[in-house]
Amino acid sequence: MPNYAWICYTCKAVNDPSDIACRTCGFPAEATGKQIEEAVTGIKQPPSQSSKELRRQRQAELAALPAWKKPLAYFLYAVQFFAALILWAGIFNLTMSLVLIGIASLTVAEVLYQLLKGKTGDQQTAAPQLPPVVRR
Ligand SMILES: [Zn+2]
Repeated sequence: MPNYAWICYTCKAVNDPSDIACRTCGFPAEATGKQIEEAVTGIKQPPSQSSKELRRQRQAELAALPAWKKPLAYFLYAVQFFAALILWAGIFNLTMSLVLIGIASLTVAEVLYQLLKGKTGDQQTAAPQLPPVVRR
């Protein structure tokens, strides 16, 4: 607990040093940076995306693509997959040229995918919109 009178981040009530949480609203005296940020900005931080969620998001994006774009999107997926393989092979063999080829292919495939996706119009897709993330 803090050894000084403290002001609640959420409701601005003044609390005694002995209080471990705000008497008025229950906000903890020693909150994490994230909790304070949420209290101050009023923005709930989205939980950091796991790779599983990212994959699901990608699938939603793919599903939202017009049919004629899907083969190209899958092709770019395959390119990224093989680019990652080349990249890892390069790292494993300590072969700089392979690493560079891998990174270049990954980047090109990603840019092409973003272009492909972008033209469909992000606003109308089924993918849920996340609230803006406030950077520290
Ligand atoms: Zn409070």
